[in-house]
Amino acid sequence: MKALTFKRGVHPPDSKEYTNKKQIKILMPEEGSDIVVPMSQHIGAPCEPIVSKGDRVLLGQKIAESGAFVSSPIHSSVSGVVKEIKQVLTPGGAMSKAIIITNDGKFEEDPSLGKDTDYESFSREKIIEKVKNAGIVGLGGAGFPTHIKLNPGPEKKIDAIIVNAAECEPYLTTDHRVLLEKTDRVIKGLEIVLKLHPNARGYIAVENNKMDAIELLTQASKKISNISVVTLQKKYPQGSEKQMIYAVTKREVPSGKLPADVGCIVDNVDTILAIERAVVKDRPLMRRIVTLSGGAVKNPGNYQVRLGMSFRELIEMTGGFKEEPAKVIAGGPMMGVAVYSLDVPLIKTSSAILCLTKEEAELPEESNCIRCGKCVGVCPMGLMPIELNGDVLANDFEAFEKNHGLDCIECGSCSYVCPAKRHLAQSIRVTKRAVMAMKKKK
Ligand code: SF4
Ligand code: SF4
Repeated sequence: MKALTFKRGVHPPDSKEYTNKKQIKILMPEEGSDIVVPMSQHIGAPCEPIVSKGDRVLLGQKIAESGAFVSSPIHSSVSGVVKEIKQVLTPGGAMSKAIIITNDGKFEEDPSLGKDTDYESFSREKIIEKVKNAGIVGLGGAGFPTHIKLNPGPEKKIDAIIVNAAECEPYLTTDHRVLLEKTDRVIKGLEIVLKLHPNARGYIAVENNKMDAIELLTQASKKISNISVVTLQKKYPQGSEKQMIYAVTKREVPSGKLPADVGCIVDNVDTILAIERAVVKDRPLMRRIVTLSGGAVKNPGNYQVRLGMSFRELIEMTGGFKEEPAKVIAGGPMMGVAVYSLDVPLIKTSSAILCLTKEEAELPEESNCIRCGKCVGVCPMGLMPIELNGDVLANDFEAFEKNHGLDCIECGSCSYVCPAKRHLAQSIRVTKRAVMAMKKKK
């Protein structure tokens, strides 16, 4: 079977051997521990608390919401008492208002939580409402509210629903484990989304370093005529939305446009699982699966955790460190963000915690560009990272925009390949934020 892919990209070592054979293990927060629930866990308007200090809350109870169109409600992942509402540090480094709940260890469910539903009889509107009320956002890291993505409007003719199971970031293995351990539920989740778009075909797109999952999915879906399992080449950043769409459909998403503009909806595997859970079991998003990896941890693995548990609690519950990490990253090594405190909460978009040893984390000094052009040769967006870096150094925002700096997907391929170890992606990312903030102000 021919493995599909996109243009350019890089081949970093995948370092998945730490965890790709480790079954998902459920970790529950301990009685008396604090669950920290930031109001900003998604793209769009932050939520506002609808509970107050001293209130008792139940598992699955909605505790925060927003009236804005682009937003997503938040639910309690434990039962307990609201200890306080205050500003906290989030894994991305920003401060956010958060509800702090002291877990009573009872996990007493909100009575509004349904059990098994008669989901096959649900209308389109009802499915979207369930997804919206469940607070589901893109769990691959983007955090875009899923109910909006699933409903792009009647003018968009959706003909491809792609389950993004590339998992191209080194170290990350949760998608792989979900495909192996929850195969039928992933397929059911995709069938639910296909019900919303009856003219579409469903694709489950998996890189060819997960052949066991490809075989299992192919077997499990062979009687379903509108679902295909697609084998992708192992290449980074294969899981990036535009690159994924190109690999599967050969369509290019133009600059400034969305997947729906070329007839596609792309959802990560864990998001599809959350959709299945919300629609079939009527349960909101209260947990996620996280890869804990890197040479500094005693027990790397794939852990299902309650949202709001801290990085520290997760690491300690798994046995702690075998050596002091030189660097801790929220997410993968290519696109993740270094965290400076373990007292940050696991939020909806936390896909991994990497605890790297000194050797793993070593970042060589930058030196002068030798004009080799390698960064240009690998950029999946066809940009000129070296030119953009020059615009950044010259503080020339106009040239940065003219050179399509805003199209950068921040994948880090240019930095990875640069022999002079120039911090290309980092500099472009910072400038992109500044230009976008300026545009917003205007
Ligand atoms: S310029 Fe942006 S999109 Fe291109 S390789 Fe660098 S980080 Fe990736
Ligand atoms: S890869 Fe590095 S050294 Fe080569 S052109 Fe790009 S910035 Fe310069």
